[in-house]
Parts: sequence; C-alpha cells; structure tokens
Amino acid sequence: MKPAPFEYLAPATVEEALDMLQTHGYDAKILAGGQSLVPTMNFRLAQPAVLIDLNKISSLSYIEPTPAGGVRIGAMTRYVTAEKSPLIAERVPLLREALPHIAHPQIRTRGTLGGAIAHADPAAELPAVCVALDARFKLRRGTAERWVSAEDFFVGLFATVMEPDEMLVEIEIPPLPQRSGWAFTEVARRHGDYALVGVAAGIALDTAGKCADVRLSFLSVGDHAVLAHNAIAALKEQAPTAEAIANAAAIAAEKDVSPGDDIHATAAYRRHLANVLA
Ligand code: FAD
Repeated sequence: MKPAPFEYLAPATVEEALDMLQTHGYDAKILAGGQSLVPTMNFRLAQPAVLIDLNKISSLSYIEPTPAGGVRIGAMTRYVTAEKSPLIAERVPLLREALPHIAHPQIRTRGTLGGAIAHADPAAELPAVCVALDARFKLRRGTAERWVSAEDFFVGLFATVMEPDEMLVEIEIPPLPQRSGWAFTEVARRHGDYALVGVAAGIALDTAGKCADVRLSFLSVGDHAVLAHNAIAALKEQAPTAEAIANAAAIAAEKDVSPGDDIHATAAYRRHLANVLA
C-alpha cells in the first residue's frame, strides 16, 4: 500500500508550523507519530495534499510540573516518555496505569499524546483518561490560543472542536485532590488490541470518608469518550460501599453509555462490560 502523492513540509518551530497550517488549512494534515495517519494514508482513506511534520520541533516534547501540583505535557511527547516519567508516576498515576494498555511497545515508541488526542478515536485510551482527569488542551491558530476542556473537546467519531488550521500544543492535567484513589481497566481480546470497553475512574474522599469528587469515563461505548454524569451524581456524597459502587456502575451502563453493535461485540455485551468494569 502506498499513499497518494503529497508535499512534505518539516517546520523547525511551532510558529512555522502554524504559518503552514494557515496557508494550507483543509489541504494539510499534521504528522505526529504517524501511527494512525500513515496507515490511513496508505489505505488512501486520507489523501492530504500537504503533510506538516512536527517531529523536528523539539520544543513540543516535554513533561513539566505545574506550580499547582499538576503537569503540563507537550503535544509531541511520546507515549514511552510519559510511561517512563517519574513525574507522571507521582502526579498522574491514572495515566501511568493506562499507558501500557495502548497498543504495543513499538507503537508507543513513536506515537504521541497529542496525536492520540487529536485523532479522537472512540476506542483509544487517552481521550477517556483525559476526560477522567479533567485535563484541558491548549490549541493554537496563528498567534491566537485557546484552552478547551477534555470533556468539550471530543464531539463525535474521530471528531473534535479543532479547526483545520488549529494545532494542539499542550495537555494540562490538574493535581489530584487529596485522599484520591484511581483505576484504569479494560477488556481487549488480546493485550495491545483496541479495547472492547475500557473505564477510567477517580474518587476523592472528604474527611468523613464520603465521595467528594467522582470521575468515571468510558472508551469504546459510543462515538467518543464519555463522562458518566448519571453514575457520578449517584455516587457523590455517598460512602463508597460495594453497594453504592455497584449501583453507580449499573446506572452508568444503563444511562451514560450508548454503544453500538459491530464485528467485535454487540451493544448488549458492551453494556454488560461497562457495568462489570465500572
Ligand atoms: P498521527 O498518526 O501522526 O496523527 C493522528 C491524527 O492526529 C492525524 O489526523 C494528525 O493530523 C492529527 N494530529 C497529530 N498531532 C496533532 C497536533 N499536535 N495537533 C493537531 N492535530 C494533530 N491507540 C490506542 O489508543 N489504543 C490502542 O490499543 C492502539 N492500538 C494500535 C495498534 C496498532 C497496530 C497501531 C498502528 C496503532 C494503534 N493505536 C492505538 C494508535 C496509536 O495510539 C497512535 O499513535 C495514535 O492514535 C496517534 O498518535 P500519533 O502520534 O501516531 O499521531
């Protein structure tokens, strides 16, 4: 398989890349790790006239602490860098726990966090993790920039609020609240496959031991990563007993997710998995 002909541009700075995006807009595609884009081009499902390769822009690859206790991650940071980062392990353990579920080591060596978020695959782990973490994304277009919350960013199947001449440059993850617990789990047919269903969860307890903050999001249960608002409301201010959690999980599976049938699983089986995993 070979891609259709395209013009290849390799900017050295973010500003250069943004200028190129302004010039080529709808005709251009950004190349990050290439792990999704290149196969799509080889199958000719995507035929961009221009490819803007971000791999020479070293300033887009970083993991830094924020003064508030969270982290900022540059869009071109590879999965493997985040997986090995002591700062991620310490401050964003939910992300650390989810990363090994993504594909295989070879793909995690090239794939980037920004690429996975921009690609907005409903079966991808990172969008659901970012929604659970209440992350926000910095988008740039020319000299303008805006921040969009993860929950507002994903709007449909492989669709986001980003405009064709916008670029995702940074992911910001807020600090975990005190007395927090977290978990990520998924069911895939084989390790490294896209999950049939996955769930990312976080709970922070108040001093009385009740759920002060609850975050629960799913992947592979609809067009995009979803925050389980009904389940969250059911668990908030409750003691996290087995019954309360089972009740919230049942609500999530019934009201918050909207899976479809496909060759991998029926909608009913996906709802069942959502309940069990939650
Ligand atoms: P690219 O492929 O380079 O780009 C993806 C899209 O995002 C393109 O449309 C591109 O234009 C756009 N883009 C990239 N960066 C930016 C930016 N900064 N601003 C705006 N737009 C941008 N993923 C999973 O989540 N879970 C899996 O289990 C999984 N399994 C996989 C198995 C295989 C065999 C393969 C090949 C891939 C798999 N992936 C999986 C996908 C992988 O995680 C990709 O790396 C990821 O989805 C895209 O990241 P990338 O850096 O390669 O982006």
